[in-house]
Amino acid sequence: MKVTRLSDKPKHRRQPPFTVKTVTQISQHLCILTGALALPLSGCKTTQSSVDNRGEVYVAGASQRGNGSTAAPRPPAAAGYAPKESYSKVQTSLPFVALTFDDGPHPSNTPRLLDILKARDVKATFFVVGTNVKRYPNIMRRIIAEGHEIGNHTVSHGNMTKMSSAQIERELTTAHQSIQAATGVAPRIMRPPYGAITSSQKSWIKQKWGYPSIMWSVDPQDWKKPGASVVTSRLVNGAKPGGILLVHDIHSPSIDAMPGTIDQILRKGLQFVTVSQLIALDGKG
Ligand SMILES: [Zn+2]
Repeated sequence: MKVTRLSDKPKHRRQPPFTVKTVTQISQHLCILTGALALPLSGCKTTQSSVDNRGEVYVAGASQRGNGSTAAPRPPAAAGYAPKESYSKVQTSLPFVALTFDDGPHPSNTPRLLDILKARDVKATFFVVGTNVKRYPNIMRRIIAEGHEIGNHTVSHGNMTKMSSAQIERELTTAHQSIQAATGVAPRIMRPPYGAITSSQKSWIKQKWGYPSIMWSVDPQDWKKPGASVVTSRLVNGAKPGGILLVHDIHSPSIDAMPGTIDQILRKGLQFVTVSQLIALDGKG
């Protein structure tokens, strides 16, 4: 099992702000992101239809409208979205990062986090656990209503490297269906609990569900509760273009760390997008 723990490495010096150099570059960013969202934007060279051949419309967070199917569905390709099997970061020099929250939703911490994100107009990605999805459907609906992305984090949060294919199939399909039932939106990405997954499992999961396995580039180890200021400094120091930041929204001190973390990362010149939006930037810029 390979787990990236950049936070264990010596701290980097604060990076200079990432600046957008030209109007053309800004325009390219917007075209790429609106492509991921399947939204038309005048001036973009290739704005493709947001409606696939079943009439399904892709929405913010790059998730997919439910089609009522109970089988493990494989999302069709959308404009600007051609995921690889796995990402721990995205290859881009464009000034975007994805903030991800695992293991929720939590009845008090997740709504508090959503308030913090809303006040800053920041979009994030939530890798939710199936048992919590069933417990807190209203929070799930709020996450989607406020423009965030939801990813599959299995039902029982077990170690997939110790599971049979049949067990994994049950875990991912049941969680997928619970998310879709609660929100009307099907997840398009998954994160293995503990980051524990084999390369053959990644291939199989991508083939069967269409999910890329989403790892991370910055792990502040917030679950060890090192204190809000430590979590903030680890995330801020680790945040670089294309980065995927790991946090757990079931821990109150992790939520305490978010206002400072978000504000400092924004001051570095980075902006927040959802994981699927970040994937759409892979290899661009
Ligand atoms: Zn987890």
